[in-house]
Amino acid sequence: MPRIAYVNGRYANHNDAMVHVEDRGYQLADGVYEVCEISRGFIIDMKGHLDRLDRSLRELRMEWPVERKALEFIIREVIRRNHVRNGLVYIQVTRGVAPRDHAFPTKPVRSALVVTAKRADPMAAAKKAEKGMTVITVPENRWDRVDIKTIGLLPNVLARQAAVDAGAQEAWFVDPDGTVKEGASTNAWIVTTDGSLVTRPADFGILRGITRATVMKVADSLDLKVEERAFSVEEAQSAREAFVTSATSVVMPVVSIDGKPVANGHPGTVARSLRDAFFAIAEKSPSC
Ligand code: PMP
Repeated sequence: MPRIAYVNGRYANHNDAMVHVEDRGYQLADGVYEVCEISRGFIIDMKGHLDRLDRSLRELRMEWPVERKALEFIIREVIRRNHVRNGLVYIQVTRGVAPRDHAFPTKPVRSALVVTAKRADPMAAAKKAEKGMTVITVPENRWDRVDIKTIGLLPNVLARQAAVDAGAQEAWFVDPDGTVKEGASTNAWIVTTDGSLVTRPADFGILRGITRATVMKVADSLDLKVEERAFSVEEAQSAREAFVTSATSVVMPVVSIDGKPVANGHPGTVARSLRDAFFAIAEKSPSC
């Protein structure tokens, strides 16, 4: 069955789906994106993701490529055409196609929209969560507007590759004061010895994860306390548990940080109960 991608008004065969060479996303990373999880035929937290897309667009003075309702239709249509019941949908909006110039196009152009969907195996994800992941830390070297979900991801790409080179799965950005910001594509959490969850406040230093927000509701439903404060690498290494959250990984235990095992080096029970309760609490919209 061929994969189908939506590109600027057309549903194209995935292999033939192309954007123009002067798309400002391609040349200048002048664009934003979202990734939503699809689970058991539902789009998870679509409202939160589209609200954040709206914020990213506004912060960068970009227009919606189509009306929000139309985008929701396109998202469902791409999921339907690709027969995805479990997986991810990717939404990218760039400032459009215009002669290359750093400043915004002087003649208004329509922003460009790409939507793709792919399947993921929930059993494989569950297996990964049983094992947990290892992380390394890298110095924070990104700009100070990482609260905007832009496609300019080069520092994140290099950080993730550093993790892969070190035999790990994720890299945490660390500020000069030794506190953890977030992962290359995940938010970072720890569980303290008294069972509280700790994650960095989502002001301007990190991306305000949609999964992060839902995990806070899940924590509430499980009577777990959440503290939004910075934590150091050392505190994380000696925590009861550590884990990351994202639409792609949901809740994924972290079993070692820079080679030091977290607790006994195995996934903890808090991360597991958050993962198990996640789907019941998250907002679910039928995917077709
Ligand atoms: N931080 C960064 C840098 C990310 O790229 C992501 C994934 N989009 C997240 C956090 C987690 O965000 P979400 O839960 O919305 O997927």
